[in-house]
Amino acid sequence: MLQGGCFCGAIRYEADDTPIQATACHCSICRRTSAAPVVAWFTVKPKAFRIVSGQPKSFRSSDHATRAFCPSCGTPLTFQSARYPDEIDVTTCSLDDPEQVPPRSHTWRASGVSWIKSADGLAAYPEKRPE
Ligand SMILES: [Zn+2]
Ligand SMILES: [Zn+2]
Repeated sequence: MLQGGCFCGAIRYEADDTPIQATACHCSICRRTSAAPVVAWFTVKPKAFRIVSGQPKSFRSSDHATRAFCPSCGTPLTFQSARYPDEIDVTTCSLDDPEQVPPRSHTWRASGVSWIKSADGLAAYPEKRPE
């Protein structure tokens, strides 16, 4: 069982699946919506994810994607895309223990800022992860 929530504690969630994927995303939309150079995400099936307290607010971040965050403290929480209806991405660092789901790759590296260099040995893809 994975458990997490926003910084202020208003929103809590649980995920009861083994994550399908986990990645550190360097894309410009993650960067701008989090004001951080990289955002780590893990992916589960939507039915394996539930909000157990609070009500996130969401907005459309592109023509196919919606992002949800805590309206009280602003913590980014989830990403869902119409292109991948059987997946929900959750911010790894909103987990109580982010060590539970370390990223397995870097994605959208070509969009990243030049002053982040990783030496973790993980695969780094210039755009999305190959299917
Ligand atoms: Zn909050
Ligand atoms: Zn991204």
